[in-house]
Amino acid sequence: MLKIGITGGIGSGKTTVCKIFQTLGIPIYYADDEAKKLYDTDAAMKQEIIAHFGEGVYKNNYFDKDALRDLVFNDIEKLKVLNSIVHPRVKIHADNWMQKQTAPYAIKEAALMIESASNLSLDKLILVSCPLEKRIVRVIKRDHTSHNEAMNRANKQLSDEEKRKFCDYEILNDDEHLVIPQVLKLHEELLKRC
Ligand code: ATP
Repeated sequence: MLKIGITGGIGSGKTTVCKIFQTLGIPIYYADDEAKKLYDTDAAMKQEIIAHFGEGVYKNNYFDKDALRDLVFNDIEKLKVLNSIVHPRVKIHADNWMQKQTAPYAIKEAALMIESASNLSLDKLILVSCPLEKRIVRVIKRDHTSHNEAMNRANKQLSDEEKRKFCDYEILNDDEHLVIPQVLKLHEELLKRC
């Protein structure tokens, strides 16, 4: 089975594109959602998080993402530590998930795919691209956040130009190109490779 990755910057439309693949019967692993679950379900990870960031990131024994975000938001070193705890575990979890899939191909969706080197265990990588300013407008609208906050999040990621070097395919989701025909074309192409 082909293992496909989908990445792209914040607000590029990765999830939106994945939903289209899902309607075609393709299973999707949403790395951010699965990572959030692991904070509560992976006991070793929980212990390590508490050891580095304190008991305060768990409220009533449940992970409190806002508390952790406040701790790492403006501290690159802490963010690196956090990523070094979480990313390898999500990678193993995703690899296990991939092995159980029976579709012709399966997709892992992750924003920090290249930054976390998770693309190395995948066969092909798709970039969902969109100019930065349009992405920022989408994120402000979706998350009811400020321009500054959205930019701050975007600046922690590689640019589309840098990501493009690692990707095999690109879906342009810039509000000017139709997305569904691009997905259908890529789906046919991937099926041929299976
Ligand atoms: P993140 O990495 O921040 O989770 P994402 O890449 O998964 O983002 P989505 O959540 O799919 O992006 O899209 C961001 C927002 O932009 C959503 O509110 C979505 O509905 C909207 N959006 C996505 N694609 C388009 C489009 N082509 N036209 C208009 N709005 C769009």
